[in-house]
Amino acid sequence: MQNLLKKHFGYTEFRPLQKEAIENVLVKKDTFVLMPTGGGKSLCYQLPALKLEGITLVISPLIALMKDQVDALLANGINAAFLNSSLTGLEIKQIENQLRAGEIKILYVAPERLALPHFQEFLHTLKIDLIAIDEAHCISEWGHDFRPDYRNLRLLKTTFPEVPLIALTATATEKVRADILQQLHLDTPKQFVSSFNRENLSFSVLPKRNTFDHLVHLLKKQRNESVIIYCFSRKETDGIAASLKQEGFKAAPYHAGLSNDERKQNQELFVKDKIDIIVATIAFGMGIDKPDVRMVVHHSLPKTIEGYYQEVGRAGRDGLPSECILFYSYADKRKHDFFIDQTADEKQANYLREKLQQVIDYGETKRCRRKYLLNYFGEEYLEDNCQSCDACLSKEEMIDATEVAQKILSCVIRTGNCFGKNYVIDVLKGRRAKKILQNNHDELTVHGIVQDFSADNLKDFFQSLVDLNFIKKDTGKFPTFYVTEQGREFLQTNAQIKLPKPQEEFVATVVKKSRQALDYNVVLFEKMRFLRKQLADKKNVPPFVIFGDQSLQEMAYYLPTKLTEFANITGVGTRKLDEYGNVFINLIKEEVHANSLTSVKVPTSRVRTQKRAKVSNGSRYLQTKKMVEKKESLLAIAKAQSFTESTIIGHIEKLLLAGETFDYEYLRPSQDTYDAISFAFTKFDDAKLKPVYEYLEEQYSYNQIRLVKFFMEH
Ligand code: ADP
Ligand code: ZN
Repeated sequence: MQNLLKKHFGYTEFRPLQKEAIENVLVKKDTFVLMPTGGGKSLCYQLPALKLEGITLVISPLIALMKDQVDALLANGINAAFLNSSLTGLEIKQIENQLRAGEIKILYVAPERLALPHFQEFLHTLKIDLIAIDEAHCISEWGHDFRPDYRNLRLLKTTFPEVPLIALTATATEKVRADILQQLHLDTPKQFVSSFNRENLSFSVLPKRNTFDHLVHLLKKQRNESVIIYCFSRKETDGIAASLKQEGFKAAPYHAGLSNDERKQNQELFVKDKIDIIVATIAFGMGIDKPDVRMVVHHSLPKTIEGYYQEVGRAGRDGLPSECILFYSYADKRKHDFFIDQTADEKQANYLREKLQQVIDYGETKRCRRKYLLNYFGEEYLEDNCQSCDACLSKEEMIDATEVAQKILSCVIRTGNCFGKNYVIDVLKGRRAKKILQNNHDELTVHGIVQDFSADNLKDFFQSLVDLNFIKKDTGKFPTFYVTEQGREFLQTNAQIKLPKPQEEFVATVVKKSRQALDYNVVLFEKMRFLRKQLADKKNVPPFVIFGDQSLQEMAYYLPTKLTEFANITGVGTRKLDEYGNVFINLIKEEVHANSLTSVKVPTSRVRTQKRAKVSNGSRYLQTKKMVEKKESLLAIAKAQSFTESTIIGHIEKLLLAGETFDYEYLRPSQDTYDAISFAFTKFDDAKLKPVYEYLEEQYSYNQIRLVKFFMEH
């Protein structure tokens, strides 16, 4: 199997659960695969197809995608074809002949074709060894993408009782999952459910102010790369596409108001890298399966978290770092409310409101966005810091917020625990709004007490206090807030508190190119992209069919100049080696020669690049490393970078994980401290700091406890 994987697909390792699912298929058992978009579902039936004697039949709902899928297989030297309404009668005849002659291994068809009696008869004359049902959630009316034609598939088990089925989907809900199994009558299927975490995606929420300027700024950082922008309405979609064009971007709109031809054309331009940006309505389900979308922007609030995760899921299918950005404003809620209020069914309306509220919570939380999303889908996420969402990245920059937290809490209490967030902030900023004057709140001592932070900053702090459960939202009709027991305790005990530094007006710094997997030669990479496009145009296929971005990046990093070396690049199987090896090697040679570069040996097996990217990202911690080498104290290192000492210990762990070596022995705490704290740790099952802190009656600081924990583990 490993050989087939390299030979045909050019990959050296399986992704999580691929191998297990494939093995199950090969022993002719029914299989159910649930993986997020980009998880690598296709391989779960494409690889078995190569081992099985007969044909693998793939049912897929999107006619538009079949051609790309087949082109990609052909480029890998796998005989595949599709049958759908876009073909002429003659073309269909030819494919049928090839099928009879056993010349085709994988056949894609649309579900409606299965219902045709003569097609069924035809299938029975062939040797079908496996049936794969892609986007299997389309069979369920509970899913977001129900397709009546998928009902035809309920009969598969009756018409082809001997043939094993594999159903694949990225839709997570329990209800839909059960429905798929039941409707397809899968025979005690083995289920392969992988994590929904998409490590290569980073998530940020930006305040929706001066949005167009921010958008342009973001897009400039992603020049020449594929981006999808989701909008609320057709009008907004057209407007943004037009404005972007004026700014010199290659952009086109995509929504239900365009003619079929226009839509098809815009989609094709995008897939073939002739334009970079598609501006689309959220309402419109796009059949876009482009692996190298580097950024998905939501210009407006999505309706549900499910929808959001599906839309952002279109970024980075190839596993390379990609950005997901939401422009958030509470005011956007009104646009949705307008539609929800028109829903006649009150139960349905309430359901939609609840769904929308979850999106708002996502937009407002200051906690890890990844954690929020994964928890939403019922998955635990145990890392403290995902290193790739705006909340986690800014968490590392904590500031002493004791005073401002006290002021906010006092203000909530003084105004009677019954006002909204903006009201409280207006009082703190000393505004003299009518309502404030009517309530005599301009006479309170807290009126105008905050000078050093802007109202926006205060909103951030306020939210952090909500996240800490110091302040809670009341359940009434209007969102009002009150101070909790915990909040009062904080005030009474005069405790210190650090909170994330407020996000400044413009937070686009979250789009970090530092997450780049390999430090490849960018000039050569661009040249190779150009070559790839020329080759693709000549063959009339999308560029990613020739090579994915990851392959080009590896080429531009290792600079292989011999075919034997080139063969070890990810994505290079035997067919592609024969077909494109020399063209690309020539280009690499030119560059190597012109700039006296040296090639690096291409490793034959490797940890997935994206994992490595995360740790080799050591540059972020370089200052920590340097200061440790100089044997500076933790406090000094923390101060120099405005981090906490605990964060610095985290840096050291990351550096060690990345394989860096340096001497940190000098940081070891005294034996007494070590013994006391490590003993306390043995009292508790999990390695949490708080119980230890309390057990030791607060004699040791959190930093000391954290440090001992570090030495216990290293
Ligand atoms: P899904 O259908 O789950 O969204 P795909 O099957 O389209 O995902 O795969 C997503 C991308 O990952 C494709 O570009 C595919 O070539 C790539 N891929 C799949 N399996 C592997 C693997 N084992 N190693 C490297 N890349 C892989
Ligand atoms: Zn995070």
